Amino acid sequence: MYDPYDPYPAPAQNHTKDPGSRSPYTQAELKRLQTFERRYRDRARQLFSQRAAFYLPMTGGRYTSITIRDQKTRWGSCSSRGTLSFNYRLVFAPLKILDYVVVHELCHLTHMNHSRDFWGLVEQVMPDYRERRAWLKEHGQELSLEQYLERQGIPLKIE
Ligand SMILES: [Zn+2]
Repeated sequence: MYDPYDPYPAPAQNHTKDPGSRSPYTQAELKRLQTFERRYRDRARQLFSQRAAFYLPMTGGRYTSITIRDQKTRWGSCSSRGTLSFNYRLVFAPLKILDYVVVHELCHLTHMNHSRDFWGLVEQVMPDYRERRAWLKEHGQELSLEQYLERQGIPLKIE
């Protein structure tokens, strides 16, 4: 079962049980990482709810709930029941990039595919979506908690 608040159990275990493991973090550092992650997940939950509510009148459709995940390969998804899921790591991107993913998923409420009609709706709401999508493709792998903290000058290693 997926536990969103305990995403680092494997490296923590490896670190204590296997001295040869490659985990760069001590237990204290992992704990610190988890604290930061909770904070950014809370922010993600707020932000995605606000931005989805903002764009919904433009895209149309109706969603039932919003969930925040940490998927390796997906930025968002939309279920046939109207549940929108978003990758929390998008809080580390510029807001306009996060907005693109919000609009993308909202448009799936109307078109559950990537048809011409779907992209037409995305473009109607967000005429420059191609640039935003390209940014995400190019920089998506940089959107990790560790890299974000480093860019912000927040030290993670406890010397
Ligand atoms: Zn899609």
